[in-house]
Amino acid sequence: MPYLHAPEELGDLVGDGPSYRVDQLREWLYRTPVLNAEDMTNLPAEMRHALASRLWPFDVEVEQSADEGTTRKWLFRAPDGAAIEAVLMGYPRRATLCISSQAGCALGCTFCATGQFGFERHLEPGEIVAQVAYAQAFLRQIGMPGVPDHLTNVVFMGMGEPLANFDRVREALRRMIEVMGISARSITVSTVGMVPGIRRLADEPWPVYLAISLHAADDELRTSLVPINKRYPIAELERAAWEYFEKKGRRLSIEWTMMDGVNDTLDQADKLAAIAKRLRAHVNLIALNPTPLSREKAPSQLQIRQFADALERRGVNATVRDTRGRDIDAACGQLRVLSGNSRKSM
Ligand code: SAH
Ligand code: SF4
Repeated sequence: MPYLHAPEELGDLVGDGPSYRVDQLREWLYRTPVLNAEDMTNLPAEMRHALASRLWPFDVEVEQSADEGTTRKWLFRAPDGAAIEAVLMGYPRRATLCISSQAGCALGCTFCATGQFGFERHLEPGEIVAQVAYAQAFLRQIGMPGVPDHLTNVVFMGMGEPLANFDRVREALRRMIEVMGISARSITVSTVGMVPGIRRLADEPWPVYLAISLHAADDELRTSLVPINKRYPIAELERAAWEYFEKKGRRLSIEWTMMDGVNDTLDQADKLAAIAKRLRAHVNLIALNPTPLSREKAPSQLQIRQFADALERRGVNATVRDTRGRDIDAACGQLRVLSGNSRKSM
C-alpha cells in the first residue's frame, strides 16, 4: 500500500525497475493522483497490476452524495476495521475536503458523534494523506458539477482530534504541503484546545490556519460540554491561541456549535465577543447536528441569526456556516455511528 510508505521511500515498491520509476510513481501518488492504479499510464503493466488491488490503504465502504452532487461523503475502512470518514463539499470556486485524523476520539465532547463512539486508534500519516489524494483523484477524474477540478481547501474537521495525534498529523501536513504541493494557507487544523499541540504546531514552519472549537465562553459551561477544558481551561487556551496568531500571522477562527438554550444566550454572546476581540478571531456558527445520543438540540435558524447579530453588534465578525449534507449526516463522525449500528444489527 504505497500511501503507507513515506514519499521518499518508494524504492521497495519499484523493485528492480529503473530508478526513474520511483519518481513516476511518486508523481501519480501525490501530484496527479488517480483512483485506479491502472490509470498510471506510463508505468509498466505488471507494476500497475501489482498496485491495482492495494493502491489505497482502505476500502470504500460507503459513498454518499447530496446537494445535487456537490457534497460527497466517504466512509473508508482500513484492513484492521478502523473507520475513516471524509466529506467533500463543492462550490462554484471552492472544493473543501474535511478529513479525519483519528478513528474515533478520546475526548468525549457531549454533542459529538465521534466523541460518543470513543477512541479506536490514531490514523497513520499515509491514511490521512490518502484521504486527500483520493478526493483529489475524484475531482480530477470524476468531478462535481460546477466545482473546481482540484481541492482548494483541506480542513481537519472530520473524526478525531488532530493535535492529540501530533506527530502523525505533522508528517501528514509535511507530505501535503511539501510533496503534494498543497498551500499551507489552504489548510485548517481544527482543535478542541490541546494547548501543548497548539504550541508545537506554532513551532512548525507552515502557516496553516488554526480553528479553535470553543463552544462555550466560560469554564463552567465549557467543561460540561468539552471535558478536556478541565485540563486546559479557557484562559490557557486563549494564551496558546494568541501565541499561534503572533507567530504565524494567520487569522484565528473560533468554531461555535450552536445548542438550543445552552450556548445561544446573550450572556454567552457577551463573553464570546470579548474573547474573539482579544484574539482578533472570526467566529463560525454552526447549528448542532443532533446525534442519536446527544441531549442538546439545535436552535432555530432565527435564533442563530440573532446570536450572529449580537456578536456583530459587539464588533465581532461572525459567519453562519451552511450545513452541507445534513440529509446524509455528513457532519462530524455521524456516518460511522450509523454504519456501526447497521453492522451490529446484521
Ligand atoms: N476534534 C477537533 C476536530 C474535529 S471536530 C475539534 O473538536 O475541533 C470538527 C468540528 O465539528 C468541531 O468544531 C466540533 O465541535 C464540531 N462538531 C462536533 N460534533 C458536532 C455536531 N454534532 N454538530 C455540529 N458540529 C459538531
Ligand atoms: Fe473529539 Fe472534536 Fe468530537 Fe470533541 S468535537 S469529541 S475533540 S472530534
